[in-house]
Amino acid sequence: MDKIVSLCKRRGFVFPSSEIYGGFASIYDFGPYGVELANNIKKAWWQYMVQEREDIVGLDSAIFMHPKIWEASGHVAGFSDPLVECKKCHARLRADHLLEDIGVFADEKMGEEEINKIFDEHKNKAKCPHCGQQDFTPIRKFNLLVKSNLGNFTDDWNKEPCYLRGETCQGIYVNYKNVLNSTRVKIPFGIAQIGKAFRNEITARQFIFRTREFEQMEMQYFTHPNEEMKEYEKLKNFRWQYYIERLGLKKENLRWSKHENLVFYAKEAYDIEYRFPFGFKELEGVHARSNYDLTQHAKFSGEDLSYRDPKTGEKYIPHIIESSVGVGRTFLAIITDAYTEEEVNGETRVVLKIKKDLSPIKVAVFPLLKNKPALVDKAREIFNDLKGDFMCEFDDNGNIGKRYRRQDEIGTPFCVTVDFDTIEKDNTVTVRDRDTMEQERVLMGDLKQYLKEKLA
Ligand code: ATP
Repeated sequence: MDKIVSLCKRRGFVFPSSEIYGGFASIYDFGPYGVELANNIKKAWWQYMVQEREDIVGLDSAIFMHPKIWEASGHVAGFSDPLVECKKCHARLRADHLLEDIGVFADEKMGEEEINKIFDEHKNKAKCPHCGQQDFTPIRKFNLLVKSNLGNFTDDWNKEPCYLRGETCQGIYVNYKNVLNSTRVKIPFGIAQIGKAFRNEITARQFIFRTREFEQMEMQYFTHPNEEMKEYEKLKNFRWQYYIERLGLKKENLRWSKHENLVFYAKEAYDIEYRFPFGFKELEGVHARSNYDLTQHAKFSGEDLSYRDPKTGEKYIPHIIESSVGVGRTFLAIITDAYTEEEVNGETRVVLKIKKDLSPIKVAVFPLLKNKPALVDKAREIFNDLKGDFMCEFDDNGNIGKRYRRQDEIGTPFCVTVDFDTIEKDNTVTVRDRDTMEQERVLMGDLKQYLKEKLA
C-alpha cells in the first residue's frame, strides 16, 4: 500500500486535499494523471452501462435534493455506523471494523443495543489501531449524512438541514416518472448516473478506498416483480464480466461476497470484492431491493409511482435491482492490479500495466537529444500530428532511460523516439512497447495508423 500511495503522489495521480494547510482528513484530489485515469474509468463504465445498452438511459441529477427524500429513503433515521472512541488516544473508530479485525461478525445494520452486546463480549481482544490500548467508550450510532444550510438563512438551520446526497441513486428514484414520461423506455429498463456523494465516514484511513467526498457510478434497473430475481442474476453476471473484460482485472483478485445480514426489504445482496493491499474489501454492491424505494417515495411524496404495462394494462410498483460502485475504489483496484516490479539489468523497473484504453497517457514522444533542434522539431511535429487522436505527452527532459522510467510508472503503453536515423536516413521512429520493452522501427507516415491498431 505504501508503494502505491507513494507512486500516486510522486507521479501526480492523487494528492491529499489542502496539503499546504496540513491536509483535510479523508479528502483527496486527483492530479494530472489521476484525472485522466478517473475520466477513462467513467468513460468505460458509461460506454458499457449506457452506450451499449438499448434498455439503459443516463441521468445527471443535482447533488442537493428536497430534504424529505432522505427521510423517505431511511437515511435520516438509519444511515449510521457504530462509533466507538478509544479512551486513551481519543481516536474515533468503527466498532464493526474493530470486531472484524478479531474475526467477529458485526455490521452497520445492527442496532445500538445489539452491537454493544457483541462488543462487550469481545472487546478484551480488540485493540485501538492507533495506540494499542483496549479501553473503549460504549458504542453509539453515528449518522453519516452531511448537513448544509443551503437555502436556509436562519441561525438554527441545523434543525432543518438540507443534505449533501449520501448516494446518487435517490436522484434516480425520484426522476423515474420523468424518464418514463419523456423517453421510450419500457420495463425492464435502467437509469444510470455518475456523480458525487458525501458521507461523514468515521474512520477513513485507507487512502482513496474510503473518503468523505467520493464519486459513485450507479445503475438502477426497474423490473416486473416476478422478473426481479431473473434480472438480478443477469446483472450479477454482466457486472462480473465488466471487471474481467473491460477493466482487465485479474480474476484471482475478485470474488463475490454474500450479505448475511440483509436489510428487511432486500431480496438478496452480493458485493464484488477486490483484493486490495489491505485484503478483500467491497468494490461494488449488486443488490435486489424489491419495491421498497418507489413505495417509500410514493408514500412520502403523495405521487403515484406505479407502472402500467402498455400491453397487458397490469399496474404495479416496479422492483429495483442495482449496481453501485465508486470511482475511487475502481481507481485503487486498477492501480493495485497493474502495479508491477520487474528486475531489468540488475535494477528494479516499476511499471503500471494498465489496460491500454484506461492509461492516462497513450503515447509519449521524445527527441533523442534535447540540444539538437532538428530532432526536437521533428518530435514536435509528430506530437502535434498525434495529439488530436490520442492523449500524448512531449518530453525532452533528462536521458532517454529516465523518460522511459517515468512513462512506465504512469502506465504509458507506447513511447516514440526521434533519433538521427529519423532525420538523416529513413524517416522511421522507434516505438517502444511498455510491457515487452521491445522497440520497433515504424515509418513516420504509418505511425498514426500503427498506434491506432495497437491501441484499439
Ligand atoms: P462500505 O461497507 O465499504 O462502507 P457501503 O456498503 O456503505 O460500503 P454502498 O453504500 O453500497 O457502500 O455504496 C456503493 C459503492 O460506493 C461502494 O461499493 C463503494 O465502491 C462506493 N463507496 C461507498 N462509500 C464510499 C466511501 N466512503 N469512499 C469511497 N467509495 C465509497
